[in-house]
This record gives sequence, structure tokens and C-alpha cells, in this order.
Amino acid sequence: MAVATELLFRDDAYLQRCMARIVAVDEHGIRLDRTVFYPMGGGQPGDRGTLRLTDGRAVAIADTRKGEAPDDVLHVPAPDSASPAIGETVEAAIDWDYRYRLMRLHTCLHLLCSVVSGAVTGGQISDGKARLDFDVPGNALDKDRIEAALNERIRAGHAVRTRWISDDELVKSPELVRTMSVKPPTGQGRVRLLEIVGVDLQPCGGTHIKNTAEIGPIALTKIENKGRQNRRINLAFAE
Ligand SMILES: [Zn+2]
Repeated sequence: MAVATELLFRDDAYLQRCMARIVAVDEHGIRLDRTVFYPMGGGQPGDRGTLRLTDGRAVAIADTRKGEAPDDVLHVPAPDSASPAIGETVEAAIDWDYRYRLMRLHTCLHLLCSVVSGAVTGGQISDGKARLDFDVPGNALDKDRIEAALNERIRAGHAVRTRWISDDELVKSPELVRTMSVKPPTGQGRVRLLEIVGVDLQPCGGTHIKNTAEIGPIALTKIENKGRQNRRINLAFAE
């Protein structure tokens, strides 16, 4: 059963909790009418947290996944957690410390795109570290230079914001698409762009911080050779 959920994180990634109603429960997970939980996608892991019922019981949410339909969000309960009933009201609260670290790293990967020229072929964010693959031949990437440029752009405190453009505008501006592995989700009339003001602009549906200074110091841990033209840049929080 597919249900469109109101995605509160899309307009405000800093929302840590919301009141919501249970609209469906099945073996795949729990669906709410609205949520602050981000479902895994675009290289960013799904949120974890709790759904607190009005009688005080808490349902631990171990993961969040996309359902079949657009805007369908599955809250995946931890094993042996309480099972809520359809129609119940809950307070949905994400593990904010975890999500905030993911938001900082996610935004950092956008910044990395602005430092390294070359098409992005893949990427992954996990807790405390992240990686991005670039289609770059040979040994053109200088680890120290990239790390210095990245931290300079972090410290510069660039504003980060989202804006929407129509599918038509995106077709007319193919240079906006830096990632080859993940096509922007067209077909719904509009596409969400993430803009680091004056630095980078690309389609993205993930969660981001508001200013690059929030990322904090980053260390490039290693650059790996992952195929003839594929270079993997690994990074992590430096402190
Ligand atoms: Zn993004």
C-alpha cells in the first residue's frame, strides 16, 4: 500500500520532531501522514529515532526507506519494538545528533564537487565519513591541494539554500547535473536544486546545513584508484 507522506524535512532540514498520525502498518514498516524522517537516498542513510505514542510507549525506528510511490516513506521499526495501531497519534523524533553529522557531510560532498572538476560517478555517506567517486584519468588529483581548498570553502561560511526549477528548465541547463550515477528525479514537473551560494548548484533531494561553516574541519583520508577513470576521494571529520 502506497501513501504520500508530507515530507517536512524537505522544507526544513533542522526539524527534529513533529506530531503525526499512523496511516498504515505492514511488514515493510510504518507510514505516517507527515514526517521529519529522511528515507535513504542520494547516498544519504535513512534516519533513525522514535515514535512516541500518547500512552508513553515508544517505537524505536532503526531505519527509514522509500516506499514504491513518490513521497512514500517507510519507518522501519527495530525488532521487538511496540506495534502501533492505524489512526494513533505519535510524536516522531529523529536521532538529531546522527542526522546533523550526516547533513554536515552531505553538504561537504557538494563542496567537494566544486573543488574537483570531473563527473561524479557515485558516492556514499556514513556516520563520520563519506566518499565521492570522480571520472578523472591518471593521477591528476592532489590530496593536499584538495583538502586545503575544501577547508578554505568550509571556513568561508557560504550560505546554503534550496530552490526549485521546472523539468523544462533543467533540460535546457544540462550543466547543472554533475552526477552521472543518480539522475535527478524529473517527471513531477519540478526539480529541487541545492545551491551553495556563489560556489555550486546541482539537483539534490537530501538534507543540508544552512552554512558551510557548520561542517567544521575535514580531513581527506585517502584517494583510491577504483578503475581506469574512477578516483574515490574519502573524507572524514578532522575532529
Ligand atoms: Zn545534497
